Amino acid sequence: MNKHISPFPPSAAAAYARLAEFAPYAGQDYAKKRNFDLGGAVSGGPSAHSHVSTLSPYLRMKLLDEGDVSRAVLNQMTPGAADKFIAEVWWRTYWKGWMEQRPTVWTAYRDDLARLHNEVQTQSGLRQRWEAACLGETGIDPFDHWARELAQTGYLHNHARMWFASIWIFTLKLPWQLGADFFLRHLLDGDAAVNTLSWRWVAGIQTQGKTYLAEASNIAKFTDGRFIGVKGLADSAVPVTAPAQPNRQEIAQIAPYDGAPADRVGLLLHSDDIVAPPLDALGVTPVSTAYLDCTTAQSPWRTASMVTDFRKALVHDLTTQAMMLDADVSVSDWASAQGLDRIITPHAPVGAVRSALRHVRKAGTVPVTEIRRPIDSAAWPLATAGFFKFRAHIPELLEQFG
Ligand SMILES: Cc1cc2nc3c(=O)[nH]c(=O)nc-3n(C[C@H](O)[C@H](O)[C@H](O)COP(=O)(O)OP(=O)(O)OC[C@H]3O[C@@H](n4cnc5c(N)ncnc54)[C@H](O)[C@@H]3O)c2cc1C
Repeated sequence: MNKHISPFPPSAAAAYARLAEFAPYAGQDYAKKRNFDLGGAVSGGPSAHSHVSTLSPYLRMKLLDEGDVSRAVLNQMTPGAADKFIAEVWWRTYWKGWMEQRPTVWTAYRDDLARLHNEVQTQSGLRQRWEAACLGETGIDPFDHWARELAQTGYLHNHARMWFASIWIFTLKLPWQLGADFFLRHLLDGDAAVNTLSWRWVAGIQTQGKTYLAEASNIAKFTDGRFIGVKGLADSAVPVTAPAQPNRQEIAQIAPYDGAPADRVGLLLHSDDIVAPPLDALGVTPVSTAYLDCTTAQSPWRTASMVTDFRKALVHDLTTQAMMLDADVSVSDWASAQGLDRIITPHAPVGAVRSALRHVRKAGTVPVTEIRRPIDSAAWPLATAGFFKFRAHIPELLEQFG
């Protein structure tokens, strides 16, 4: 259907250039304009998302982390001036930490999706409504525009994501899980925790009883008049019923690396972190590097190739040596072919990579050591309740990492 015209060059240089370009505008400018969706690069036109950072595809792959972005901005302005932007940056961390402490929210979503996959195959009414929404053929102009913008560029402005999710759930009355899946299959920044929890938030499941209703006047104002007088939107948003939130569990400790100096060690990068951990500190020089992409395992439907292409190209930009692993060349095959004694890999948060690593460990071919970033070890356990409690810790996180 769509020609792909991603405005996100898959390179570290592009990520750092964008950060440097945006950092001076992360203060007042961002706070005032961040809610305006002025339009993406649909049909080959230029993207007008210049008032937000558009760094999320790089942050998602951990090419940049919250510390890098905070530091770049705080080099330009005071924490007070950057307050709004810094808070948004750490929302990602908050969602990641929240999910780490309630991993069954992800497995329940995956189970729901498997059931809905079956229902879409067997219920033609549901299938038609779902197809129309995914193809941008609902007749609701802005919604159809955003469906196409997402498919063409791999990105949507935050406000468009909120309106889109709200219309999907409350106007089109489609299951939120199918919308979350549509996003995960197309967003370059599609993330198990951030996406699932954001959709739950719009649906009124995450902050219980609090839903997000897309209103025509709000869309007209914050699209700068691009979509005026949208008709047919739901006029109320009753929270979606869902099982109670699971109890919080402690984040699992990670066993330290205990390899012998003579071990043949393989470095496994993956689609939840493409940056090598500091191996020098462990006295390790890997004999082989591989990249495991589990993006397509997140959905029973086809993931847009631009998402996997973007991720693989970013890895290639960082290291041309990485062997690309997928269903045909498994981690165990790679370990055997390279005669590995151990694998070291960046920590895999809740999501498809973690499930894949569980299989590798079960197969017992080779021990796997995960290295969690200090910034995640420090921040994730703080996501015990709501964002505002977490937010109170941002100054101390900035002291350490910003
Ligand atoms: C329904 C829905 C689904 C979403 N799915 C995803 C997803 O799969 N992956 C994803 O990275 N973000 C997701 N978001 C959050 C947010 O929309 C994007 O992070 C943001 O739009 C990325 O654009 P940006 O980099 O220009 O953001 P900026 O406004 O420039 O913000 C800077 C950074 O802060 C973080 N951030 C900003 N807003 C949020 C937010 N609301 N929640 C969490 N982090 C935030 C991101 O890392 C972002 O790159 C979703 C939001 C909604 C409402």
